[in-house]
Amino acid sequence: MAEEKKPAAKPTKPKKKVKPYEKRKYCPKCGPGVRLGEHADRRSCGKCGYFESKPKA
Ligand SMILES: [Zn+2]
Repeated sequence: MAEEKKPAAKPTKPKKKVKPYEKRKYCPKCGPGVRLGEHADRRSCGKCGYFESKPKA
């Protein structure tokens, strides 16, 4: 019985580190489906006017 060599583990791509604040967020007021608009220092909802400031890293 031939020994089956396991294929060498493929080099896995380094996981992209996603900052929590890079993720698109939905408006907590309007609910899922309404995304907050991206701004340099904040996110805002164009629907209800909700906005939140981004914490500085
Ligand atoms: Zn909203």
